[in-house]
Amino acid sequence: MANIIDGKKVAEEVKKEVAQEVKKLKEETGIVPGLAAVLVGNNPASQIYVRNKRRACEEVHIYSEEYRLPEETPESELLSLIERLNRDNKIHGILVQLPLPEHINETRILRAVSPLKDIDGFHPENVGLLVEGNPRFIPCTPHGIIRLLEHYGIEIQGKEAVVVGRSNIVGKPAAILLLHRHATVTVCHSRTRELKEVTRRADILVAAIGRERFIKEDMVKENVVVIDVGINRLPDGKLVGDVDFENVSRKASYITPVPGGVGPMTIAMLLWNTLQSAKNSIKAENYTR
Ligand code: NDP
Repeated sequence: MANIIDGKKVAEEVKKEVAQEVKKLKEETGIVPGLAAVLVGNNPASQIYVRNKRRACEEVHIYSEEYRLPEETPESELLSLIERLNRDNKIHGILVQLPLPEHINETRILRAVSPLKDIDGFHPENVGLLVEGNPRFIPCTPHGIIRLLEHYGIEIQGKEAVVVGRSNIVGKPAAILLLHRHATVTVCHSRTRELKEVTRRADILVAAIGRERFIKEDMVKENVVVIDVGINRLPDGKLVGDVDFENVSRKASYITPVPGGVGPMTIAMLLWNTLQSAKNSIKAENYTR
């Protein structure tokens, strides 16, 4: 039976660290890290995410602002808000909750966020820095994955890592981070042939697909480390991951549960990135003086 990777516990540790550093930063410089979350429309899952992020900020004493805009908000209005937040000295991190309504161009919006406040790490400048190996902000979910692996002392170097999913938010950056830590990385997607043959090679398997219990027992080898990013809601309201936890956990050496695995880490790393951004802003100010 696999060891369960306790994302809730590790996230609490990260939050504690952040809270201590926030306090220290305030004492030493008077600066309080600030996060602005922007939500457009009524997507119920997005509303829960934004609420959870606000609560997490409160826990670690990060200042937070929340902007809830109606579904029909014109793109120009959203752009003006982002420009205002880009200039606001109280705000060090800007988070635009995805998905955005159809009539708003997501790429344009994400590029409008100042790369210095892009704590999700989605701006092309930050993507470039990440690929180069000099990240300014590591996207929160992949960052959380690496932190979990490190916490449990799971070796990455030289291991076969297979990432299923190639989104810009999870799959691609997770693959890059594993590559920088010297894993041999394979990225799979909906057009991968013989997926099972590929996933069975994995020492570390990251599932970021968005399909309930998609990874079955016969798709993994004995002692695999399984990181399940998926969050899928069943008709009865229950949350399950992309991995058939019950059966895969019999073969795995380590596995993340859903809920309580990667999810809490994503929020913790968002707080971490906001703190880093506030620290970076001080360095930048000293430099320009
Ligand atoms: P996307 O829908 O953007 O990407 C899904 C990826 O899975 C795509 O690359 C797609 O391939 C691939 N895929 C879909 N079907 C198959 C298949 N049959 N075989 C192989 N690959 C397949 O999702 P995200 O990356 O944004 O999110 C993935 C999951 O993680 C979701 O459940 C989401 O809710 C969850 N999530 C959880 C977070 C957390 O904090 N725990 C944070 C972010 C996301 P292709 O590119 O070819 O279409």
